[in-house]
Amino acid sequence: MDKPPRPKRPINPIVFIVLGLAIALYALFITWTVPDTNKDLMYVFAAIGFLFFVVGLIKHLMSKDKPSLKKEEEQVANQFTNISVTNPPVGEKTIILCSKCRSRNYSTSNFCHMCGARLR
Ligand SMILES: [Zn+2]
Repeated sequence: MDKPPRPKRPINPIVFIVLGLAIALYALFITWTVPDTNKDLMYVFAAIGFLFFVVGLIKHLMSKDKPSLKKEEEQVANQFTNISVTNPPVGEKTIILCSKCRSRNYSTSNFCHMCGARLR
């Protein structure tokens, strides 16, 4: 009750991985290099470190999944916009020339607006 509430900020999973690896490796390093050590205690340390490492790895993988999904959605959206750019919608007006009077007409019109000749 005396302690102030901790601000809930997501810890970078890399911190877990690095910290966990550091603790585990340090504990193992001590057990192997220093002969007079409490090996049980060091193994506990190593286990805790390994646990941190695994948690960090899981968090890292989970946080990585979300942005990649968003990227895929963006790619799909981009594909749609690309399609609409490369394939203009049917009925879009382009300019064609009348074969009789050479005046400009929309490709959607059936007759020339100048001479009335049939365009299609
Ligand atoms: Zn014409």
